[in-house]
Amino acid sequence: MEKKKTNKRQHSYSRLSTFAECPLKYKLRYIDKVPAPRSRPLEVGGLIHDAAAAYAQECINQSKTHLYDEADAILDKVFEGSVIHPAWEKDVRAAYRQFVQQHEIPLDDLYGVEEKFSLNRNLKPCPWMAKDVYFRGVIDLLQVRGDYAKITDYKSGYMISSADEFQLRVYAWGIKKLLPQIKQVEISLDFIRHDWQTHSIIDAEKDLGDTEKEILRRCGQIDREEKFEPKMNEYCEYCTYHTQCPLLENIPDMKNPENEQQARKIAEAYVATSLKRKDLQKKLKAYVDTAGPIQAAGKQFGVSVSERYTNVNVPQLILDMTEHGVDILPYLKLDMRSAKKLFEDEELEKILNLNAEKKKSTRFRETKAPKDE
Ligand code: SF4
Repeated sequence: MEKKKTNKRQHSYSRLSTFAECPLKYKLRYIDKVPAPRSRPLEVGGLIHDAAAAYAQECINQSKTHLYDEADAILDKVFEGSVIHPAWEKDVRAAYRQFVQQHEIPLDDLYGVEEKFSLNRNLKPCPWMAKDVYFRGVIDLLQVRGDYAKITDYKSGYMISSADEFQLRVYAWGIKKLLPQIKQVEISLDFIRHDWQTHSIIDAEKDLGDTEKEILRRCGQIDREEKFEPKMNEYCEYCTYHTQCPLLENIPDMKNPENEQQARKIAEAYVATSLKRKDLQKKLKAYVDTAGPIQAAGKQFGVSVSERYTNVNVPQLILDMTEHGVDILPYLKLDMRSAKKLFEDEELEKILNLNAEKKKSTRFRETKAPKDE
């Protein structure tokens, strides 16, 4: 009788999310182990993480919450032996300096830096390199106070983005497996280039509900997978394996730019692609206009109908509604863009601060270049 093949794939949050994005990308990265080409975000991000961890570790070794004077020497050690583009090195140094200036290492309740958790097939903690390890995770900074845990995940990119709910639950689930006494988990995403942190609280007793089932479902799906077909998705444009992707065979190679000249070439290709995209959109529009919606590449293309009022006389509308006994205030929104000038006045800004929550965000911008003088 033929023996049933047992699959020894190991899992982590990154692996699960890569597979969900694209099975082929998962296979190239984790099974075939095709080295990803050097790219600025990967290398700079990795070094910033290494530097932050080395700094925190040295603070722990010396029982000090900060080590401003030794910070540069710690970073030099991290750089030792690595050959890196000078512009990338400058970027790492700037982000690291920001990290050092803005962070104190919380020695009182610190549980670990780069804290690893690994579970076997029975979902019991096991050594990181154990033969039957099934799921692994690494936490940048873990603090524990009785039954309360705080996880900090350092984000080294320029974009401030919101957390993936599943990722937060996987972290909380991992901590609960490691430390069963934990009842609440606070998860902070720390955007170190912006001195900006987000916080979410997960009740490890109540909120984890179906998380384990979902993790095991996704792990099982990967364990059983054999084909690893490419799946076009919203992250294809950042995929480091696009040159090996059968779906993109006809698109010219666009490796990550290493200097401004290459970045300009990409910008030109980007504009040309936008024009092409507009053209393709026109054709798709014409098709769905007569034949109805279609689904492709993880998206739905169709026509939606919307109605709206324009040129609303807002003051008169408020008066008329009030006269009809309607409290319209809960439905009104302040257009912060138009009201910006109003809050240039310091006193009014103080009032605004009392009545609103300030949020910081970043986005990639594309605007018209200024004309040459
Ligand atoms: S380019 Fe897209 S479809 Fe192709 S391997 Fe990468 S993620 Fe998958």
